[in-house]
Amino acid sequence: MKKVTILLPAYNEEASFPVLEQCMQRVLKENPGYDWEFLMVNDGSADNTLQQMARLRQEDPAHWNYINLSRNYGKELAMMAGFDYATGDALIIMDFDMQHPVDVIPEMLKWWEEGYDDVYATRQGSTEKWFKRKTSQWYYKVLQMFTRVPIQQNTGDFRLLDRSCIEALRQMREVERNTKGMYSWIGFRKKGIYYQQQERQAGASKWSNRALLNLALNGIMAYTTAPLRLASILGVLISFCAFLYLIYIIVVTNLYGEPVAGYPTIMVTVLFLGGAQLICIGVIGEYLARVFNESKRRPGYFVSSYNGERNVKREDHEKQD
Ligand code: UDP
Ligand code: MG
Repeated sequence: MKKVTILLPAYNEEASFPVLEQCMQRVLKENPGYDWEFLMVNDGSADNTLQQMARLRQEDPAHWNYINLSRNYGKELAMMAGFDYATGDALIIMDFDMQHPVDVIPEMLKWWEEGYDDVYATRQGSTEKWFKRKTSQWYYKVLQMFTRVPIQQNTGDFRLLDRSCIEALRQMREVERNTKGMYSWIGFRKKGIYYQQQERQAGASKWSNRALLNLALNGIMAYTTAPLRLASILGVLISFCAFLYLIYIIVVTNLYGEPVAGYPTIMVTVLFLGGAQLICIGVIGEYLARVFNESKRRPGYFVSSYNGERNVKREDHEKQD
């Protein structure tokens, strides 16, 4: 029997457990042809999420596994931990708050059986606020302008990945991650399906606007070095304009003389050039910061326990299978 893992990253999700349990029971009942693993990752929650996970594991050790990370690393790294520990032939990533409906799982499995490696679910009719929806639309447009790799809009982490995709993703150890970009980058046979995003049932969203902005920036920086080129293009353009302006001044001064000292023009030029330089330095700085973080070659995360056992190294875990 083929084994499918459902990966569930969790940060302060104690309120989501009743809904989650209900949904996973449905998955078991409605898809008996598969061996199911529910792999929860506790991403440094400050509430009772860990205790709840331990309870589920105790009640049904055949299906529930949980990783306890040593602190809050963010969803991207929590998923990376999940890729490392998942034992299934395929993996479905779902949000702990069950905003991703389990109804589409049979459809995902169907396409997987037909030979697709990455069955991604695209949101249809979002319940998000207007502002969040629009900014996300614009963001995808901008991102797509910069890169040849096709990017799926309104598509998040809700997808089924074949083992081949998981192994590919596991080799990409960067710590400044934008996993959405990685799914596209690794390629493999992709199939899109649609789903209706659910309202969050319990608890609150964990994404502050700052975290979202960070994710968005990481997306661009991880995808492309085009902004670096933008800096040079901007530089050339500004120099060119300055050159035209220089000629203009020479001509005008020779024809009409210089009546007033050129204070305004100097100010405008200085401010404009100063701004342009700051932008360019900022762009370079963003990349440098990423190089700096990656060059430390730190592991993306530390696990403090796996299924309640401490000191489990990834290698030990792999030997168990
Ligand atoms: N999450 C996580 N670590 C974090 C923040 C979020 O593992 O630091 C998980 C969270 O528990 C949930 C998923 O990421 O399973 C999506 O988070 P959330 O529902 O808060 O985001 P939203 O749906 O509002 O975009
Ligand atoms: Mg959510």
